[in-house]
Amino acid sequence: MIRFHNTLTRSSEPFEPRVAGKVGLYTCGPTVYSHAHIGNFRTFVWEDLLRRFLEARGFAVDHVMNITDVDDKIIAAAVERKASLEEVTSPFTEAFFEDLDRLGIKRARVFPRATEHVPDMVSLIQRLEAAGLTYGSEGSVYYRIARFPGYGRLSGKDPADLVAGASGRVDADEYSKDDVRDFALWKAARPGEPAWDAPFGRGRPGWHIECSAMSMRYLGESFDIHTGGVDNIFPHHENEIAQSEAATGQPLARYWLHAAHLIVGGEKMSKSRGNFFTLRDLLDRGEEARSLRYLLLSVHYRRVLDLTDESMAAARQNLARLDDFAHRLAEAAPAAAGDPRAQAAVTAAARRFHASLDDDLNTSGALGALFELVRETNAALDGEQAGAEAMAAALALLSDFEAIFGIRLGRAGESLSGEEEALLRTREDARSRKDYGAADAARARLLELGIVLEDTPGGTRWKRVRRG
Ligand code: AMP
Ligand code: ZN
Repeated sequence: MIRFHNTLTRSSEPFEPRVAGKVGLYTCGPTVYSHAHIGNFRTFVWEDLLRRFLEARGFAVDHVMNITDVDDKIIAAAVERKASLEEVTSPFTEAFFEDLDRLGIKRARVFPRATEHVPDMVSLIQRLEAAGLTYGSEGSVYYRIARFPGYGRLSGKDPADLVAGASGRVDADEYSKDDVRDFALWKAARPGEPAWDAPFGRGRPGWHIECSAMSMRYLGESFDIHTGGVDNIFPHHENEIAQSEAATGQPLARYWLHAAHLIVGGEKMSKSRGNFFTLRDLLDRGEEARSLRYLLLSVHYRRVLDLTDESMAAARQNLARLDDFAHRLAEAAPAAAGDPRAQAAVTAAARRFHASLDDDLNTSGALGALFELVRETNAALDGEQAGAEAMAAALALLSDFEAIFGIRLGRAGESLSGEEEALLRTREDARSRKDYGAADAARARLLELGIVLEDTPGGTRWKRVRRG
């Protein structure tokens, strides 16, 4: 049985989708005024694991992720650069998709852009207006939270104690509100800023209404799982619930899952603190995207993840161990008479791997089981006790790991041959002696063998290409 920790109830609950076999999943996407950083990718990679896990359990997952392409920071950048919103956001949106691919994150069915769904937001605001939940002030429209009895349920806060703007995402200039806790559904246009026409005046949507309107369009009024990082719980998701549920009278999502933060030097990685790296920064240092993905998934999603040189190195080493094991398994011959204990050890590891994931996506438990498999099977291979069945079951578990964690392990055929290794070393030696003639000759010979080299600040990487 699958269980998830539901932020809404603060408890672990059995997972049952609304429609058997199908899961509607909404994940809050990036604000595209700069590159997404590794902290953002902790959340996005974990959401991808969630999706892959559900797919591995047989569910058809309908995944929607929004792109926030209008907000205060984007507008400020556009005004400063005398550029359109599109000019500011489109390079970062493109870069975001490239990063998704590099990190092996599956594409959502749709990535709705906020600017392309303003009419949906306007009509949702009108629904709230008709229900008496809004008020206008100086051209802006606000949500009157005192009219929504469930306010504070997700974040577990007493509405009386709430202070709007706690996440730093709310305009400091919203002084025209009746109550500081109310939030903007629609912000009046300011001179020189992008704006849309609406029955309540020219302006632009608030951030929260975007996700309510777009989740409704693509997943319906009620769906299964809504996720984000913990910083999204309040006020963003609390406000999404207030907007959607007041309009429809139905629960927005049944399960709310939130990932803890990625921190560096004891602080949350964030754009505003300036303590962030992007995926590009890490790749430029010679890290593999795959190692980063492994690191991001190696800690349970509800625990804070500390990004350090040591944790990065440990991820690299653990992956290398799995690569070696995958090689060995692919190349070893099974023992004619396998020891049933070897088989039992593989079965036990597989059971623990899957049971850990079923228990609120306990990835660290699942990896623990995988390394138990490596130890036990290596010992069995050493003692020539691993029979064909045990080896096939071990390979099957590695495939499950690859599919769910979205990480490919190096297999035979993907490594360099002895000759290729030697040429690579020859070239490296020649380069360090500044003997560029010899280095180029080695490179040319490798190219003949179908190996393309790329020199990066972190070292030389190679890629096998098809010849002919
Ligand atoms: P943003 O672009 O700021 O709207 O954030 C996109 C997603 O990244 C949201 O789900 C955030 O909760 C998440 N996020 C932001 N910073 C971090 C962090 N340091 N660690 C984990 N997730 C984060
Ligand atoms: Zn959102």
